[in-house]
Amino acid sequence: MRLVLLGPPGAGKGTQSSRLMKAFGIPQLSTGDMLRAAVKDGSPIGREAQAVMNAGKLVSDEIVIKLIDDRIERDDAANGFILDGFPRTVAQAEALSHLLEQKSMRLDAVIELKVEQGRLVERMRQRVTEAKARGETVRDDDNAEAFEKRLATYHEQTAPVSEYYDRRGQLHAVDGMGSIEQVSKSIDEHVKHNQAASSG
Ligand code: AMP
Repeated sequence: MRLVLLGPPGAGKGTQSSRLMKAFGIPQLSTGDMLRAAVKDGSPIGREAQAVMNAGKLVSDEIVIKLIDDRIERDDAANGFILDGFPRTVAQAEALSHLLEQKSMRLDAVIELKVEQGRLVERMRQRVTEAKARGETVRDDDNAEAFEKRLATYHEQTAPVSEYYDRRGQLHAVDGMGSIEQVSKSIDEHVKHNQAASSG
């Protein structure tokens, strides 16, 4: 099962990816997590990415495509994966199509979580408050200013990715405004439908 989860920051992609990962026994490949790890390690990629990430902008296509290309080669991704936060530009989506074609792989479903903008800001604030209450570290880009910028970046550069998959007849929009259980149920229905379609 190879899935792509699309949606603005705060839409619940991380929550749903973790759940799907357990349900299908496949890894969640998050370019955001990979980049944060690179920043933490102080690697050359991390040093290049840090300022861009803190400003809520996108790291270069070249860097993230390379990260994904290397990552899907690993053994644990042989039976599938969930892409979370990638692709974020049409160039990345095209590169992914090309990459999968070369490996004779295809995507089973592309799911877009749809959430109203006002609700996203509310969720980000809640996430920060809860993390602080638990004494957890808060992401550097989880502050009102960077979050607004991430949302703007999403609308400018990532929304066209949905259109890319829609034109290819691969996009499934899911209402992300409901409870985690409701959203999970809608995603699972799409996934099951696709599994049935690909095996039948
Ligand atoms: P995320 O955890 O997915 O919200 O990603 C955090 C930040 O990492 C983003 O705001 C971008 O700066 C960077 N990033 C993550 N994934 C990508 C990607 N596919 N393309 C470009 N930049 C990315």
